[in-house]
Amino acid sequence: MTGKNKYGLIVVGGGITGLSSALTWALNHDVKEEPVLLIEKEPKTGGYVTSYEREGFLFDTCQMIPNISDILSYLGIEIELKKFKGYYMRIFLVNPETDEIKVLELPSGVDTFKKQLMALYPNNAAEIEKFLDYSREMYLELFDLKLEPTAKEIMKTLKNCPKIVANSSKTFKKYFEKFNITEPDVEEIFNVFAEFSALPAEQVAAIVPISAMNSLLDGAFRPKDGFVEFSKKIEKKYQDLGGELLLKTEVEKILVDDGEVEGVQLKDGEKLYSDYIITTVDPMVAMKSMVGLDKIRALDKKFAKKVEEVKMSTSSMNLSIGLDDEIDLDALGMDCGYNVITTGGDTYDRLFDAYEEGEIGFTDKRFHLGVVCPSLTTGGKPNLTVRISPMALADWLELRKNDPEKYKERKQNWADFFIDKIEKYLIPDLRKHIKVVDISTPATYARYSGSPTGSVYDMAPYPDNFGRTRLKMRTPIKGLFQPKFVHGVFGCLLAGMQANDMILDRKIMDGNARYKP
Ligand SMILES: Cc1cc2nc3c(=O)[nH]c(=O)nc-3n(C[C@H](O)[C@H](O)[C@H](O)COP(=O)(O)OP(=O)(O)OC[C@H]3O[C@@H](n4cnc5c(N)ncnc54)[C@H](O)[C@@H]3O)c2cc1C
Repeated sequence: MTGKNKYGLIVVGGGITGLSSALTWALNHDVKEEPVLLIEKEPKTGGYVTSYEREGFLFDTCQMIPNISDILSYLGIEIELKKFKGYYMRIFLVNPETDEIKVLELPSGVDTFKKQLMALYPNNAAEIEKFLDYSREMYLELFDLKLEPTAKEIMKTLKNCPKIVANSSKTFKKYFEKFNITEPDVEEIFNVFAEFSALPAEQVAAIVPISAMNSLLDGAFRPKDGFVEFSKKIEKKYQDLGGELLLKTEVEKILVDDGEVEGVQLKDGEKLYSDYIITTVDPMVAMKSMVGLDKIRALDKKFAKKVEEVKMSTSSMNLSIGLDDEIDLDALGMDCGYNVITTGGDTYDRLFDAYEEGEIGFTDKRFHLGVVCPSLTTGGKPNLTVRISPMALADWLELRKNDPEKYKERKQNWADFFIDKIEKYLIPDLRKHIKVVDISTPATYARYSGSPTGSVYDMAPYPDNFGRTRLKMRTPIKGLFQPKFVHGVFGCLLAGMQANDMILDRKIMDGNARYKP
């Protein structure tokens, strides 16, 4: 089946989805007979998942993952993961009129979390219990879902996954309303899980925050030696198995002949051939520019229409802050997973409205940011990561290209704005301890990933853009797969396995949406 320039599989993009796709192939084939090639435009693999050094500090892009030991074990990868010790999350609810702060502390562990909430809000104890129990059961139903169910399996799903079926078209807000929880603080707490997916509660598909909440409350982790361990270890294992890797190589076209995928064309014009291609780059770029919508439309009008309608997730701003040794982050309770500083209420919804207009909606009266302290979990010099979302790409790219000074000034102004908030509401005198601040903007993410919208979480999980209604992984072009609908490290590792499961007629996961060892 192979010859010169002909591979068993070509994977486009060496982020976590691409690495998982390529390694899963290598684990399941004799690569001398059916070689696999991973193509990455950057000088290194990993995509969004990386660690970087600035002035002696080691920073990560990503911050936390759920327990993914079963997947790592399938891939044959060992990574030392450290669990966040203290609270799972603290929410600093700021009243923007009076500057008063209310702190909501959420412990780790599903049961402890439930007990604490019920004790804190006795008026709503029964409703909270019902909400959490129902949501847990719905989350566990995910393990019974098939990715491409047969007619018989659809019948089984209706029987085995009634909660998912009943709520699949609901937003989190609509879902939450069913439980008649009246305490505003409790709603505030659960809305934060919605915002983890970078969509407001009134727009995100209910199952997304429910999964994030259940998987992360079970335990939130980070790799001891930085998130770069994922790409380093997967890449090594892949190459040890004989997988081929091309770095600094850009794919320009995905070649299609008579409805079947043929190979790829690189930017320098070279063509490489394969009967199977897995693309893991921005799906809009892959479908529209690399393949061409006309070719897809000729095969499947519905799929082409879906491509045109897909909404991508938002972009983000990140501050990586290196601190001196004088600061006592432990005493400030910073060993918890996530600290959210927010003006609460409809803050996220209104920030999202601004994002949709291509504007930045943060003001002194309306803000929402996440602060993580990686060093207290994984060691190293004291540092903080600040996550700011939603942030539109807007004119960040043009500014960086055409007016670098203004770009620098604008990103510094926004960094100052958010550092002010942290200093005021979370870490007094923070500025005195700062040694280095590295600022990433939507332009940084657009460049990193090749996503024109700088989307950090791929396709956005609206109810009509997720689950059954998402852009399918199996494209209408025979042999072409696009495992790009779930976000996060866990979802990306799983997606690479799922695409191979489709190619291998369910050999790896028996067609299941979740891996069950
Ligand atoms: C700041 C930030 C924080 C995050 N925090 C978390 C977190 O705490 N926990 C979590 O689970 N997830 C987190 N995520 C999300 C997670 O990082 C992503 O979901 C995941 O990395 C996406 O992986 P991917 O391989 O699908 O895509 P990408 O990482 O975008 O990889 C795509 C790859 O394709 C390459 N490429 C693009 N175009 C071409 C081309 N034409 N030819 C060849 N190669 C090409 C790119 O260079 C890139 O390496 C975060 C993301 C960001 C940006």
